[in-house]
Amino acid sequence: MSTSPSAHPIERLDPPQRTLRRAQYEAFEFELVAQGVLVRNASHATPEDHEYLVTIEDGLPHSCPCPADEHHQGACKHRVAVAIRTPVLEAARNAQRIRELQTSKMQATANPLTP
Ligand SMILES: [Zn+2]
Repeated sequence: MSTSPSAHPIERLDPPQRTLRRAQYEAFEFELVAQGVLVRNASHATPEDHEYLVTIEDGLPHSCPCPADEHHQGACKHRVAVAIRTPVLEAARNAQRIRELQTSKMQATANPLTP
């Protein structure tokens, strides 16, 4: 891998051109959830059947439960769709960061150093 951590997320995912195009023109809807970003493909007649939870790790769309992500090389269109929409990715990263802070605070209260 010749990509540096400072590269744009899309360079780090390095999707095939075909995936990149579909991630751009299909009508995706995004919803922030605790585990990452819920990506719904409104291009389908039944968008609720085309809804996938993309997890964010290390600032990148890390995994997607869709068949394409499992069976093909490289990132699927859902992960790419999140990566190319910077505000969505940023919001997910921020939400994750806030949750981490909250978790460490809760652990601190649950395990006080003094008896
Ligand atoms: Zn996917």
